[in-house]
Amino acid sequence: MAKCSVCGKEAIYCAKYEGRCYCKEHFIKWFEGRVRSTIRRFSFFGKREKIAVAVSGGKDSMAALHFLLKLSKKVPGWDIVALHIDEGIKGYREHTRRFLERYCEENNVELHVFSFKEFFGQTLDEIVEFSKSKGLPYLPCTYCGVFRRYLINMGAKKVGATVVVTAHNLDDVVQTFLMNILRGDVERISRLGPKTEGEHLKFVRRVKLFYEIPEKETALYAYIHNLYPPFVECPYAPTGLRWDIRQFINKMEERTPGTKFRMLRALLDIVTLSKKTPRLRTCKICGEPSSGEICRACQLRLELGLDISLPP
Ligand code: SF4
Ligand code: ZN
Repeated sequence: MAKCSVCGKEAIYCAKYEGRCYCKEHFIKWFEGRVRSTIRRFSFFGKREKIAVAVSGGKDSMAALHFLLKLSKKVPGWDIVALHIDEGIKGYREHTRRFLERYCEENNVELHVFSFKEFFGQTLDEIVEFSKSKGLPYLPCTYCGVFRRYLINMGAKKVGATVVVTAHNLDDVVQTFLMNILRGDVERISRLGPKTEGEHLKFVRRVKLFYEIPEKETALYAYIHNLYPPFVECPYAPTGLRWDIRQFINKMEERTPGTKFRMLRALLDIVTLSKKTPRLRTCKICGEPSSGEICRACQLRLELGLDISLPP
């Protein structure tokens, strides 16, 4: 059995990429120290913030919420709230949602829920059916991703948040990086940095808390703190490209530890080189931030024939 490199007790985790092992206590210290250094390195937060953590109720977002609550006890100017988007996916969202509700109750966290049904008039399940019947070419995850990001921004503004935290981890980021390389989409790669800046008055700044933390470690952190919700897979979970890429990157990491971090360094160089990204414009229909004349959410809504007048 491997021993903790700090205290010599039995280790629960070995980080092959740095050749060190950790017992439970020192894993937590080491993990939290590294997230804090990400926060510092990329200047994620100021002294006074209303931080909205986007939580699905899955292990990564639960870990993010838990970590920030703990950290906020030392920062009096921080106010943490949880933001949950209910897409309306039957047999899936209810499970993680219940887990999240219980956590928020027990830990006295304000929970704000915004749903597709309420904002777009249809649940994701209904949108997917409707889209199929109209012969539209989009996958469920396209609607889900576009509408979720849109609602997170709306929700963040409604609760008066100054910053939104998402729980994207190192694995998510490098997988998306490689997927965009394979698709030849450099524009998207340039948007994979650790945070967005105030590109638009109506756009709440967003940071990726676990940008430099491998998924294995966020999962272990969640597990140690009993933040592991019952595992239920989304019925629309993509089995295509991302799955293959994930397997490939994990195999490379196994063979040459540190691969993911090297990919991240390359990505950060690209992001820095392409800093001249155009400022966001304003969608002609809904007035929300957009990269084109009409935002992606309104484009999809128009194609679906959904009501584009938003509830107040
Ligand atoms: Fe949404 Fe796709 Fe994730 Fe399901 S797998 S929650 S549809 S993005
Ligand atoms: Zn130890």
